[in-house]
Amino acid sequence: MGRASDWLREERRKTLGDWVAFCLACGHAQRYFTETETDVPAACPQCGGEIRSRCPSCSARVSSMFAVECEDCGAELRPPVQFGATIRKPPKKG
Ligand SMILES: [Zn+2]
Ligand SMILES: [Zn+2]
Repeated sequence: MGRASDWLREERRKTLGDWVAFCLACGHAQRYFTETETDVPAACPQCGGEIRSRCPSCSARVSSMFAVECEDCGAELRPPVQFGATIRKPPKKG
């Protein structure tokens, strides 16, 4: 028996990337590979907001586009209400 569907799923995962980084401000998300983590921008290409690619608490990587909590420690990865919110200027830092 072939495992075409599994192969396809794996192939797609490989194409898109193993991990997810997302914008804290507008929810923009992008996938990346462990090897290409350095390609993940520090600021969102859409709004200039902060891009988060790891749990702020335990530094675990994020594997789901829709994760709001760390799979490892349960820490909040981003505010739960994001999508559909009006995009405003990113909050001032410091
Ligand atoms: Zn953004
Ligand atoms: Zn964590």
